[in-house]
Amino acid sequence: MADIYNFSAGPAVLPHPVLVRARDELLDWQGSGMSVMEMSHRGKEFVSIAAQAEADLRELMGISSDYHVLFLQGGATSQFAMVPMNLLRDRQQADYFNTGAWSKKAIGEAKRYCTVNVAASSESTKFTTIPPRDTWKLDPSAAYVHYTPNETIGGVEFDWIPVTGEVPLVADMSSTILSRPLEVSRFGLIYAGAQKNIGPAGLTVVIVRKDLVGETLAGTPSMFDYQQHADNGSMLNTPPTYGWYLAGLVFQWLKEQGGLEAMALINQRKAGKLYAAIDASEFYQCPVDVECRSRMNVPFTLADASLDADFLAGAKAAGLLSLKGHRSVGGMRASIYNAMPEAGVAALVDFMKEFERTRG
Ligand SMILES: *Cc1c(COP(=O)(O)O)cnc(C)c1O
Repeated sequence: MADIYNFSAGPAVLPHPVLVRARDELLDWQGSGMSVMEMSHRGKEFVSIAAQAEADLRELMGISSDYHVLFLQGGATSQFAMVPMNLLRDRQQADYFNTGAWSKKAIGEAKRYCTVNVAASSESTKFTTIPPRDTWKLDPSAAYVHYTPNETIGGVEFDWIPVTGEVPLVADMSSTILSRPLEVSRFGLIYAGAQKNIGPAGLTVVIVRKDLVGETLAGTPSMFDYQQHADNGSMLNTPPTYGWYLAGLVFQWLKEQGGLEAMALINQRKAGKLYAAIDASEFYQCPVDVECRSRMNVPFTLADASLDADFLAGAKAAGLLSLKGHRSVGGMRASIYNAMPEAGVAALVDFMKEFERTRG
């Protein structure tokens, strides 16, 4: 296998031991004679895989029995619609924080179902900050407050959880879930597309407080109704079985690493090393305010953008892949999710220093 480090924002790198185990079990899962891909989702083998994955996720995140854990399809993008369809209930308005590209998408979709009050925005700083608390305009009658704890494109991350009183807090955690311990009880609903920090694309995890579901907008399809998924153990239809299995292997790997406290320390070290290298140089720059820099997605620019293509080509030759920044931002972006080894960040930092020395 080629020795590379993959900094893709998503689908993203998976833990190597997880891929090895999936390979070893690919044709014959634990003596069943079948691949997990070939199993009935209602058979005892897959039912046990599914239950173990849920139990491990509950243990890792400390999710109480007050919450459903759902394994769905449709990506985080479907959640942009499912959230209002299920959580508006008898209300017509929801509060949204606008901290970047994914917030905007969530807002755009919610507007199809309700009045969106943009309660806080960092648009005036080009999404390089988090809106200070004294600028928020939360509406106590809102159905919920939605925010994006980590903006995958802009590289902006909340280091704290907004306080919204009685109004349920909803979080799009697609690119930060499982990167550190989380007080789940502070949230009404958490959702995440799997392809950043959970597993392969095609699976979406939703964690929702049980008392919030059961009342949907008129005309909501069954597939968009959390209650129906909960009543059927996320098997209202054929679930994404292989993605669910791989997510379960990732959860087991996380437990072996020491859980989310251990991951938080490693992630802090990785991000710290990369930001320190950027800040110590005259050649690289990170546009994001120091207070809210993402530990998962690190955007940076070169002092001379005409060197971008050479940087990317050199990085690729050194085995450092997918560093090109999002087309809306430009520059570079290194996504350093849980599965990115510390050695990968060290290799990137070495390459950056050498590139600056020879080309900067
Ligand atoms: C990737 C991402 C999405 C989109 O996820 P899909 O699964 O492609 O729908 C939404 N929100 C955030 C924060 C993301 O990082």
